[in-house]
Amino acid sequence: MTLSHELPHSFEGALALAKKYLSRSRTLVERNLVMTEAEQIVQAAYRLITNKKLSRSDMLLRINEPFPPQAAEKVLVWASQRAEGKPLQYLTGHQTFLNHEYLVGPGVLIPRPETEFLVSSAIQELSTHLPQYGIEVGLGSGAIAIELLALFPKLKIVASEVEPQAIRIAMKNAFLVLGAESMKRLKVIQSDSQTEVLGVFAQKAADFIISNPPYLDSSDPIDPDVLLYEPRAALFAASPDSLYFYREFASHASQWLKPGGYLFLEVPHQRAQLISELFDKKIWKIRLAQDLTGRDRVLVAILNP
Ligand code: GLN
Repeated sequence: MTLSHELPHSFEGALALAKKYLSRSRTLVERNLVMTEAEQIVQAAYRLITNKKLSRSDMLLRINEPFPPQAAEKVLVWASQRAEGKPLQYLTGHQTFLNHEYLVGPGVLIPRPETEFLVSSAIQELSTHLPQYGIEVGLGSGAIAIELLALFPKLKIVASEVEPQAIRIAMKNAFLVLGAESMKRLKVIQSDSQTEVLGVFAQKAADFIISNPPYLDSSDPIDPDVLLYEPRAALFAASPDSLYFYREFASHASQWLKPGGYLFLEVPHQRAQLISELFDKKIWKIRLAQDLTGRDRVLVAILNP
């Protein structure tokens, strides 16, 4: 492919090139994302080729300076693939989540801001308890477990995951954030079946269980790019019942927790009430927490002591 005639020579040219390709996507234009994503692509391409991080302000300060030709080629490829719907994070290979940057790729769900809220809610509750042993159902990129491990130095987490590709990525993330001790602090159980929720965990008496389970319903409005590119098992329960995981937690989680232990679940806001009604109020104290958009997003259940 000889595209060199199209390749820009400055940061400004690189941005213009990215914008030109991204503008071919109706979704990006309608959502007013062309400029933001063009900037992200230019920054990520520069970083990949030079191994140097480039902040947004640096990029703007250097707008007329030369842009490395290899990075310009990346901008061209990424912007055209992004315009076809491929998530930006799968192209650049990164997503920032709370305090760290995580590797992501096909096979793992891209961690979302809603899930940052799940983790901050858990941190708020756990900070006075200094947890030692936690369970995560559905590790994905590892962002949830690793953020908690980074914050609570005595904590160990055992996590389940069905997708082997996700396990590989999560272990790399754990090593990048936690260093060599990640091997001792995060244990992963490869689960063969998406319907086995807590049965895979041999050790009980956890201080907490946390999960962002697959919770979409086939009748929910879903971004077609998400459906096309992100792992199905991370989005939908294997059963046609989209509340499958919540029913499992409501029936069995108490057996895996210490008295007074916590269950933190991300929930679909439309079904949050329905989900909280699945829990027996005689054994659980239940609270729904609202995210920044004011929607019910996290269910906190405390097992009565
Ligand atoms: N725990 C991962 C996350 O929240 C994966 C969740 C999932 O695959 N549903 O990002």
